[in-house]
Amino acid sequence: MNEKKGVDLDSDFMKATDKNPSNILPEKLGYDSPLQFECHPGVSCFTACCHNIKIVLTPYDILVLRKRLDIPAHEFVTQYTEPTLLERTDMPGVQIKLTEDKKACPFVTPEGCTVYGDRPTACRYYPVGMADFHEGGSEDNETPKEDKFFFLVKEPHCKGFEEPKTWTIREWRADQGVDMRDEMNKQWLRLIMRRKSHGFQASLADAAKRMFFMASTDLDHFRRFIFESSFLDTYEVDQETLDKIKTDDVELMFFSFKYLANTLFGAEGLNIKKGKIMAKVQEIQQRQDDSLKKAEQDYLKIKADREKAKKEEAEALKKAKK
Ligand code: SF4
Ligand code: SF4
Repeated sequence: MNEKKGVDLDSDFMKATDKNPSNILPEKLGYDSPLQFECHPGVSCFTACCHNIKIVLTPYDILVLRKRLDIPAHEFVTQYTEPTLLERTDMPGVQIKLTEDKKACPFVTPEGCTVYGDRPTACRYYPVGMADFHEGGSEDNETPKEDKFFFLVKEPHCKGFEEPKTWTIREWRADQGVDMRDEMNKQWLRLIMRRKSHGFQASLADAAKRMFFMASTDLDHFRRFIFESSFLDTYEVDQETLDKIKTDDVELMFFSFKYLANTLFGAEGLNIKKGKIMAKVQEIQQRQDDSLKKAEQDYLKIKADREKAKKEEAEALKKAKK
């Protein structure tokens, strides 16, 4: 699958040991395709793929990792990540910060991954990438259609392909727990897909990018934004949702995706309070009235100035003739 034309979103942007497309096998796989592969501490390359890599973290990855480490999100982001742009978009995200000396993931030891049960989505995918063919979305661009397929990333250092174990892609994914991760990441990945389909002609304001980054990386901050700013004066949010997002981080994360889709791309799902809309309409009307008045005043002044100038010119001419 060297030819990646038409692939709008694929999981390999989340984890890459190199950018060599020849490591991607040119075969489109489905859930029932066979896979001969196994990764275990006995392989000679054990933990090789945890070095010199780029691992982009999804909001859910950050949530579970920071809980496992029992530290606040902002501390996790500062200590273990560095900024990146989510591939082929201008949207800011984070990737795992490798150690200075060995260029290793900070969670790897010779015995393996120390956060294995909560390892990021990208680590679970490897070496089975997933791609979505995006057919341009529905007319309102609300629900981009998906057409999933899978592909193998076969890098020379990875000896897992020499192991005898065989399974289907479906079994492999179940074993790695990626189905649940896909569900958790789906709406966030859709935001990136939308950004990609809008292209760079449609610029995204810096404030919008900051909001995307904050909501994607720091749910504690996003919760304060909801409950401690004028957010609830502006948006209609029912009591049941409020009760959930006050205490449930996953619900809050889903709510953040809905909010971002609404503010960044005008998607439905979050309504501005009627009173706020009326106030905004009145504010716009007032601004229009004010600018109309100002334009009238400017016009009258220019007209008076011109008449005065003409009069002075006529008088000067009269004087000159005398
Ligand atoms: S999180 Fe674990 S599996 Fe992923 S790169 Fe780091 S050590 Fe390896
Ligand atoms: S077999 Fe592949 S996935 Fe497993 S440790 Fe080796 S390089 Fe990584």
